[in-house]
Amino acid sequence: MAVPKRRTSKSKKRMRRTHHKAAVPTLAPCPKCGEARIPHRVCPNCGYYKGAKRLEIED
Ligand SMILES: [Zn+2]
Repeated sequence: MAVPKRRTSKSKKRMRRTHHKAAVPTLAPCPKCGEARIPHRVCPNCGYYKGAKRLEIED
């Protein structure tokens, strides 16, 4: 098995990890209620997806 010859420096480790961050979620308005919602997901506000009620929302 390949083994690293040198320990990765703090700087190199940090440079690599600058790309390691949480993605900002894409949000699009729900066509039913207009609430911001993740595309291709049931709306958390009204419970609709593809024009039909898929979830009961309790308040
Ligand atoms: Zn909705």
